[in-house]
Amino acid sequence: MSDICSNIEKVNQRIITACEEAGRNPNDVHLVAISKTKPLDDIKEAFDCGQLHFGENRAKELQDKMDTYKNPDIQWHMVGNLQTNKIKYMVERVNWIHSIEKPKYLQEIEKRAGRIDRVINTLVQVNISDEDQKSGCTPDKLEKILDGARSLNHVRVRGLMGMATFTDDMDVVRDEFKLLKELFDKHAENNEGSVQLEHLSMGMTNDMEVAIEEGSTMVRVGRAIFGERNYG
Ligand SMILES: *Cc1c(COP(=O)(O)O)cnc(C)c1O
Repeated sequence: MSDICSNIEKVNQRIITACEEAGRNPNDVHLVAISKTKPLDDIKEAFDCGQLHFGENRAKELQDKMDTYKNPDIQWHMVGNLQTNKIKYMVERVNWIHSIEKPKYLQEIEKRAGRIDRVINTLVQVNISDEDQKSGCTPDKLEKILDGARSLNHVRVRGLMGMATFTDDMDVVRDEFKLLKELFDKHAENNEGSVQLEHLSMGMTNDMEVAIEEGSTMVRVGRAIFGERNYG
């Protein structure tokens, strides 16, 4: 068995163990393999081992990979910062966009996906870390973004995404995931129209167990599957 296959098996086992400890059903936690900076051959290898969901954080790289590897069974996820002018091409193939942080991105997806009659699954990214990072809306902007999305036809808002502070202190990480889960629970009470919150995208190689304990339904794992990255 190749490294990538055995790595995927190990990550799936980590998911199962974390679910057992949290009293959750492992079928409720989906693995998105983050293949950024890695060659297509690695993605193909992972696919051959049964991995169907892949995520990238740069529009250009995602586009190149989607255009080159036209495998209808793969679900592509965009997890990195968006730019309005990249959305037009992305919507042709992408299945999930995790990084909605402004209403204008939803409007652009609605317009572009409408022209080709697709519906794109999206998650609103919330800035839950105390780092000075730009990604994600502040929690107080969430309501406005969700309200503006309820009547859209080519966008479904299916959950929230967050990245914890990059630290070894798992108490800090846990508090941030708890905050995201609280926001999720609160806003999921108002599910209506195209806003149907059911997913929480949180947890990466270093913090996936904590994320699962706090309610994650999608873990985005790169290094534990594909190995360390040289850049990105
Ligand atoms: C790179 C990346 C990941 C995966 O991180 P690892 O530490 O390699 O597991 C997850 N989410 C986002 C948004 C990323 O950019």
